[in-house]
Amino acid sequence: MALSEPPVRPRPQDPATSAPGDVERPRDASPQEEEQSPLGPRGPIKVVHAFWLAGMSCDGCSISVTGATNPSVEQLLTGSISGLPKVMLHHPVLSVENGDEFIHPFELAADGKLDAPYVVIYEGSIADERIAAATNGYFSAMGDKVLDEDRTPFPTAERLRAMAPNAAAVVAIGTCATWGGIPSAAGNPTGSMSVMDFLGADYRSALGLPVINVPGCAPVGDNFTETIAAILLFLQGLGPLPEFDELGRPAWLFSETVHRGCNRAGYYEEGVFAKRYGDKECLVEVGCWGPIVNCNIVSRGAQSHMGGCMAVGGPCIGCTMPGFPDKFAPFYKAPPGSFISATTSRAVGFGIRRLRAMSHDNANREVRWDLVNDGRVPSGWGRVPRPGLLGKTVHFFYEKLQYSGSKKPGRNDRRHYATDLPPRARGMDVVQDKSRPGPKP
Ligand code: SF4
Ligand code: SF4
Repeated sequence: MALSEPPVRPRPQDPATSAPGDVERPRDASPQEEEQSPLGPRGPIKVVHAFWLAGMSCDGCSISVTGATNPSVEQLLTGSISGLPKVMLHHPVLSVENGDEFIHPFELAADGKLDAPYVVIYEGSIADERIAAATNGYFSAMGDKVLDEDRTPFPTAERLRAMAPNAAAVVAIGTCATWGGIPSAAGNPTGSMSVMDFLGADYRSALGLPVINVPGCAPVGDNFTETIAAILLFLQGLGPLPEFDELGRPAWLFSETVHRGCNRAGYYEEGVFAKRYGDKECLVEVGCWGPIVNCNIVSRGAQSHMGGCMAVGGPCIGCTMPGFPDKFAPFYKAPPGSFISATTSRAVGFGIRRLRAMSHDNANREVRWDLVNDGRVPSGWGRVPRPGLLGKTVHFFYEKLQYSGSKKPGRNDRRHYATDLPPRARGMDVVQDKSRPGPKP
């Protein structure tokens, strides 16, 4: 869904008055601004609170986000990105506050008494707490609450339900929160589900936004911080409302498949496939699902533009996708669809590879060697074979096509070379012609 379109449902409240306390709002959005974006920009805002809740989680999303660099968490927290408000992060692991001091802002937000707008970030899937409650237990909780005069753990799912309506946005981070992920895999006893499943299709934030999903196991940290920065820019009135796809993913990050940006895609095209892990070729026959998976890790890198699954030899197992892991298991088997595409690539690639090899050999030859050195390569590193008759013929017609309609550059002309190879470097005397004017000192 392009969020530049009007939201499906009318806004439940007017965000200009219902967001829980923009600290400063010197002016309302002008009619023109309202027209530009149906949700309307907010700004200027000095501080935005970010409440981090964790459900059935391994904390991998937190770790991944702390490694983000574009932008970094530090840049968001210090408000050092020009125009962006400062982010006040409330994180169960990273915050220095603890106990009641830590929990209190969560309660203020849920009660609509916070003095600034806030977003809720949920990491991990949401267990069906009714299952645990049946035996007086709980799955995921933070802080406690009074129940029947006893203090009892406060499930994070309940906190989410209480905080979501007044939040400027609810962001699900990681595949557990976006689709259910590993905790919701077959055989789990927790009834785990995603934030979308939990809040329902009708959920809208105070700004009219459905749940925003940044999947990945673990997600690319930059994907998350960039999405937050884009939302903050919009809240400030400095940027357009970011575009999200029909599953709530940032469209500019998740519209392409892994395969399209893969550093091994050239091998796929030429029909050359890895036979075992560790081989350098395309990994589709050892279990890569990249051609049908939405993820940008190969082009963006896992961290600081480094790494990413194929870059380090790993086939794509679909960790950003709904239904992961069950729908992509067993991970060691080639996806059934790859039989047709890989067989076709093999057939076409067989001819293409050979033609390319000839052009490739020619591309590795300096023009001078062929024109004035009889095709010999003056390399001390190894013997480079001289082009045979077939190679010369193919290249002759190749050049005809290459330069048809244009002039062949002069460097391809023997007259542009003063000496034959090999140059007698040591014995080569430079004779100056004193009769000609030289450069002025
Ligand atoms: S390794 Fe996977 S993503 Fe990369 S080219 Fe092969 S099939 Fe495509
Ligand atoms: S390439 Fe595949 S396995 Fe790797 S992060 Fe992306 S979706 Fe997950």
